[in-house]
Amino acid sequence: MEYRRLGSSGLKVSELSFGSWVTFQAQLDDSKALECIRTALDHGVNFFDNAEVYAGGEAEAIMGRVFKKLGLRRVSYVVSTKFYWGLHEGANERNTLNRKYLMQAIDGSLRRFQMDYVDLVFCHRPDPHTPMEEIVRAMNDMIVQGKAIYWGTSEWSADQLMHAWQVADRYGLHKPQMEQPQYNMFFRERVEREYERLYSELGLGLTTWSPLASGLLTGKYNAGIPKGSRASLPGYEWLAERTITKERLETVRRLHDVAVDLDCSMGQLAIAWCLKNAHVSTVILGASSVAQLGENLEARRVVAKLTPDVMERINSLLGNDPHVRK
Ligand code: NDP
Repeated sequence: MEYRRLGSSGLKVSELSFGSWVTFQAQLDDSKALECIRTALDHGVNFFDNAEVYAGGEAEAIMGRVFKKLGLRRVSYVVSTKFYWGLHEGANERNTLNRKYLMQAIDGSLRRFQMDYVDLVFCHRPDPHTPMEEIVRAMNDMIVQGKAIYWGTSEWSADQLMHAWQVADRYGLHKPQMEQPQYNMFFRERVEREYERLYSELGLGLTTWSPLASGLLTGKYNAGIPKGSRASLPGYEWLAERTITKERLETVRRLHDVAVDLDCSMGQLAIAWCLKNAHVSTVILGASSVAQLGENLEARRVVAKLTPDVMERINSLLGNDPHVRK
């Protein structure tokens, strides 16, 4: 496993990491989650992603129990959580980043994790209804209180990120160190174009999500929605509708030939393609079984095969290079 710096910070994260959205509780109970986490650790993964809202807090509780059972030194792994949607319906408990919500949210997460601190804490979405200074101070205070080590954002615009950074800079507060955007063969604009100047100017690191576009990029949906797959899960109809389009399925079918030529699976090609981007600190993998995770972790071996010619071939098949204006 290679380790990359989280932007300009000194923290090293494994270039492939493991997340818990959808899977923890719904598809992976404690013992299966433990098997997956152990597999990831055996491959050198040191970063595990989570959020308050995943399975209504249960994903944090499962991960916490697993790490307790594994009995590892706390410094040997990196854990994250994210706040915004909340767990309750109250005016100050959902869809907010106000100080009152954030300060109790971190305590709730630490209780569920049974940990003294999380390494990375994210503002899961922007909140236009809370002043930036209030958000930045609350995130800074979590770090000062020893409850988190670094803070960052998820799906914030470049302007919002720049604003947060400037507020932190003005008041000498901890700055946002990382962003968690969607990044895969279908979602490129933000990472490859919108954030471009933030890497050098702010030293921003990226922990990117959905490298397989929820599984679409494995080719598993080419012939319909398989039973038990994410798109078939009750409550995820919206995801299936949003993700699986005729145009994308055609692209996946076309890309399949590249995977065959490189002697890898379609999913491994898609993950390796994300790893090729040097601005990505870590690609967060999702998996509903140890077998999937094992296959995905082997994607590292494909990176060396992605020569400039192959990348160009993929680029023209995708037809969505953000630097090429149509
Ligand atoms: P992917 O796009 O890689 O999708 C993972 C899913 O694809 C799996 O759960 C599985 O679903 C299917 N899959 C994975 N590998 C294979 C394989 N080898 N063969 C067949 N099917 C496979 O990643 P996620 O969308 O899960 O995102 C990864 C992580 O990123 C999340 O766990 C979370 O931590 C984070 N995230 C953050 C977000 C944010 O807003 N900040 C939003 C979303 C995710 P199945 O078997 O059920 O079909």
